[in-house]
Amino acid sequence: MEKRRLGKTALEVTMLSYGGIKLPNISEQEAAECLNLALDLGINFIDTARNYRDSEEKIGKALHNRRDEFYIATKTSARDARTVEEQLGISLRNLQTDYIDIYQLHTVSNADAWAAVRAPGGAYEAALKAREEGKIGHIGITIHRDKQVMRETIESGLFETIMLCYNPMDAEDVAGEILPLAKEADMGVIIMKSLSGGQLTQPKDRRIAGMGGPDGVVAGTLRFVMQNPHVDVVIPGMQAAHEVEENVAVAENFAPLSRQEHEALLHLIGQLGTELRYGQVCLRCGYCQPCTVGIDIPAVFKAADMKRGYDEKLHYLASEVWESVEVKPDACIECGQCVEKCPAGINIPQQLKEAAELFGN
Ligand code: SF4
Ligand code: SF4
Repeated sequence: MEKRRLGKTALEVTMLSYGGIKLPNISEQEAAECLNLALDLGINFIDTARNYRDSEEKIGKALHNRRDEFYIATKTSARDARTVEEQLGISLRNLQTDYIDIYQLHTVSNADAWAAVRAPGGAYEAALKAREEGKIGHIGITIHRDKQVMRETIESGLFETIMLCYNPMDAEDVAGEILPLAKEADMGVIIMKSLSGGQLTQPKDRRIAGMGGPDGVVAGTLRFVMQNPHVDVVIPGMQAAHEVEENVAVAENFAPLSRQEHEALLHLIGQLGTELRYGQVCLRCGYCQPCTVGIDIPAVFKAADMKRGYDEKLHYLASEVWESVEVKPDACIECGQCVEKCPAGINIPQQLKEAAELFGN
C-alpha cells in the first residue's frame, strides 16, 4: 500500500490507516484480531484517543509486542496543562509504551477551546514539555468545525498535524480552502469522519458492490478522500476483520474516481436512506437553497446526521451546528419548492421535522 509523508513529521504512513474509535464496540479478542490483521496487511499507523473509552487499552494489550511496527497517535480533550500531564500518563500506561508518536489536542473546535489550549498553563504547554522530555514525538490538533479556528491553528505554526472531517457529503467544508492551507504549511493532514461516523456504509445484508469494493459506498468514499492531493492519511474506524480487509484492498488498488464513478457514488449515497434508519441522505449540494422562508436546509440535515452518527460525547458539535441555524424548521410553510430541486428526492419538510425532534424542538 502507498505510504505518504505525514507533513513536517516526516513519518511515512500508510494512506489507509486504523481509526480506533470503534474498538470499544467489540471484545478484547475481536479488537486484537482486527489490529493484528491490520498490521499483517501493512497498515503502520493507528489513531485513538484518551476518551475513546477502552480503545487505548485494547491497542496496548493487542500490540505491545509489535510496538516497533506502527506509529501510534492519541489525543487529549483536556484544556489545561496539569490535566494533560495526567492524561498523557494514563495513555502511555494504557498503550503499554513509553513513546507516543503523535499527541493531539482534541476537538479544539471553537474559539474558546482554541484560546484555552494556548493560554499560559494551557494544554499546549504540557504537550511541548512532553515533547522536550521525549514522551511524544509530534504535536497535532483535531478540529471538527469552525473554519476560523482551523485557519488560526494552521497559521500559528504550533502544530505538525491537523485532523479534519472530510467526506463526499461534507466536502466543501474544508476542501476549498483549509486542506490546501494546511498542506502549504507542510502539516500532516489526517482525515476523520470519512464515513461520516458510519453513516456512509451500506447495511451488511444489502450491500451493493461498486467502486472496487463489496460496499460501493465505502470503497467510493475512501477513494474520494484519498484522491485529494492535500490528504495524507484517512483513518476509518474499523470493528470487524472484513472491514480491515476490504478497506486495505481499496487502498492497495487505489485509483482516483472517474467522473462517472463520482456520480455513481453520489447516487449510491442518495439511495442509502431508503434502506436505512431514516429518510434519504442529504448530499449537501445546496440545490434546495434558498428556502422560501430562509431555512438553511443542508445545515439542519448536517446537524441531524452528526447527532445520529457521532459518538454521544461529540453531540455538542451537532448542537453547535443546530444552534447556528437561524431560521429553525418550524418556520417551514411546506411550499414544496425545495423538494422539486432536490436530486436525492428527499421529503424535505418531513425530514426537517424529524431533525427538529432530534434536538427537542
Ligand atoms: S437539495 Fe437535497 S441533497 Fe441537496 S442539500 Fe438540499 S436537501 Fe440536501
Ligand atoms: S418546503 Fe419548507 S423548507 Fe422547503 S422551501 Fe418551502 S418553506 Fe423552505
